[in-house]
Amino acid sequence: MDIRNIYCVGRNYALHAQELGNDVPEEPMIFSKPTHALHPAVGELRLPSGIGEIHYEAELVVRIGRTYESGMTADQVVDGLAIGIDWTARDVQTVLKEKRHPWLLAKGFKNSAVLSAFQPFPGAAAFQELTFSLLNNGAEVQSGSPRDMIFPLERLISYIGDTFGLAAGDIIYTGTPAGVGGVKDGDELTLILNGERFGPLRVSL
Ligand code: MG
Repeated sequence: MDIRNIYCVGRNYALHAQELGNDVPEEPMIFSKPTHALHPAVGELRLPSGIGEIHYEAELVVRIGRTYESGMTADQVVDGLAIGIDWTARDVQTVLKEKRHPWLLAKGFKNSAVLSAFQPFPGAAAFQELTFSLLNNGAEVQSGSPRDMIFPLERLISYIGDTFGLAAGDIIYTGTPAGVGGVKDGDELTLILNGERFGPLRVSL
């Protein structure tokens, strides 16, 4: 299935919002990336250089399998589960925030949406109990579970579906836990979703 819209949720884990000095939002904070940002979760990953820190944000990703209609549940519309990285040009983002400009330049550059293969969606109840993590050069730098999401999957589906629309091929990056950080040329990243490893990704800056 071709991927269509790429939605991302900002500040969906309280400890991550805190680590960047942001308030916890009162309703979901949604942004999107161009499909040109997609890159598989293995192989060489070229990231932009000369624009300051580029941070990893490991996130669970869900795929929509049918057209959303108001009131539908996650179990009715979600058909796939993956893990990915919402790459963020953090210094660029800081300037954009100060200027109150859109985040596209900091979040939507080429290769900024790393995505593993999809597996069948296990259901909203099982999704809630998943664990995921990110290793950088073999050391765990992030770990999380949807248990700690501020806006649970059900709320994300209804909010995004009612506000922007959701249909087959759309995907949602559901937010990152604490521990985001920068990378350097040659770093090797591995994503882990419920014990299954994806990668390695070799960073080229
Ligand atoms: Mg993110």
